[in-house]
Amino acid sequence: PTTIVDELGIALSNLADAATGAFTPTLRLGVTGLSRAGKTIFITALVHNLLTGGRLPGFAPLAEGRFIGARLAEYPDATIPRFAYEQHLEALTGKTPTWPESTRRISQLRVVLKFQSKHWYSGMTGPSTVNLDIVDYPGEWLLDLPLLGLSFAEWSAEALDRADRPGSGKEAGPFLDLLESIDPLKEANDLDAEKLAAAFTDYLRKSREHQALSTLPPGRFLLPGDLEGSPALTFAPLPPQRQAIRGNSLYAMLEHRYEAYKDRIVRPFFRDHFARLDRQIVLVDALRALNTGPAAVADLETALTSVLACFRQGETNPLLRPFVRKIDRILFAATKADHVHHTSHDRLEAILNRLVANAGKRARFAGAEVKSIAMAGIRATREGTISEGGETLPTIIGTPMKGETLDGVTYDGKTEIALFPGDLPERPDSLFEDGTPVALNFLRFTPPQKLDRNANGDVVLPHIRFDRALDYLVGDWLA
Ligand code: GDP
Repeated sequence: PTTIVDELGIALSNLADAATGAFTPTLRLGVTGLSRAGKTIFITALVHNLLTGGRLPGFAPLAEGRFIGARLAEYPDATIPRFAYEQHLEALTGKTPTWPESTRRISQLRVVLKFQSKHWYSGMTGPSTVNLDIVDYPGEWLLDLPLLGLSFAEWSAEALDRADRPGSGKEAGPFLDLLESIDPLKEANDLDAEKLAAAFTDYLRKSREHQALSTLPPGRFLLPGDLEGSPALTFAPLPPQRQAIRGNSLYAMLEHRYEAYKDRIVRPFFRDHFARLDRQIVLVDALRALNTGPAAVADLETALTSVLACFRQGETNPLLRPFVRKIDRILFAATKADHVHHTSHDRLEAILNRLVANAGKRARFAGAEVKSIAMAGIRATREGTISEGGETLPTIIGTPMKGETLDGVTYDGKTEIALFPGDLPERPDSLFEDGTPVALNFLRFTPPQKLDRNANGDVVLPHIRFDRALDYLVGDWLA
């Protein structure tokens, strides 16, 4: 039958490839999420677990004894910064473990995975290899996709409308005042452009800090990567003008820079990096949003809507049409699940599922398979119980970071405590329909200070459900 001929065809071409070393399949995995969602920790844990064959019962190739090993390899594109895996691991596993520096720009790393295939012909071909290319990039950059469909005037109208809304006053005030004082029709000069851009960036940054607002583009204003201070980032929205706009005016200058931002920065990112991904994990600090309150949760949902819109197939999203689309699986992961007791992990997963489903409806999302998970790339807490007034409460045990405070106590970064973190609601409905706030006791913990070692003497990084995430993202490529 034809299928066997096909299979043989594959087997034979694999043989030939193995002989010449010509062809190794490459899985390009995108890792994104807003600032501090946990990208750096996830990738460091991912690479370390693969290199050392970590404790991953839920990762089928390893559980089935078919995973042979992994090694780091040179990344084919030398123009893109390399993910600083060794430095990050050193920070986490050094004498006094600390959290490594977070993602500020795009970076990549290639891991070569060697495994024994399950297929009947694998006996003929011997072990197989897959290149896993990990692409780390700020989620803020995804929020820029809508800009590709907006002119400077349209974007300005939207951005100024948002800045004018009640509630934005405190953050947007200085920028709006400055805007009042500058005539956009006067002759262009760099100083005005710089002052406006600085005030606008300041407003974006403050609204994120104060209200946990995470959704305001342009994404590079919040995370400029290597572009800090470059003219392409030196623009700001301007009000509509009644009189004709002259080519040498400030308005024309900023409009030009906005267009350059789209052409030179946003479009190449989507074309050269985003559109070439096979799989994507989106990390979400859902616990922080839940703890901040309903407005932050609503805002997170808006951000997820924008993110999902990027993954819409090219046919339905005209902005993406020029780019080839092929992502077939997206995993949304609520990170830092070690901040709640395991009895809340399923609940956290249900909440994220609900958030993503709502966002998916709004983004009219269709295309890739989507799944949600609650996990911790690196688990910083253990679990215990405390008895209080005849009641037994589940607790987490960890060392709060220096300077963290709770109930009037400030921690020194050395003292381990048992904390009742609070519960997540059993049904997500209570969050989304009744708007009941969730009260969590939320402290940042130091990374684990004592780490186990495996039979080879490698440290073992503890995690939560990380193996399931890995299996969903990579497992079937190693079948
Ligand atoms: P990103 O690279 O900006 O997305 O974020 P990072 O990976 O640097 O994470 C930001 C911070 O979140 C870290 O410094 C840790 O404090 C915390 N964090 C990230 N992942 C975990 C985790 O799995 N468990 C715990 N307890 N904290 C985490």
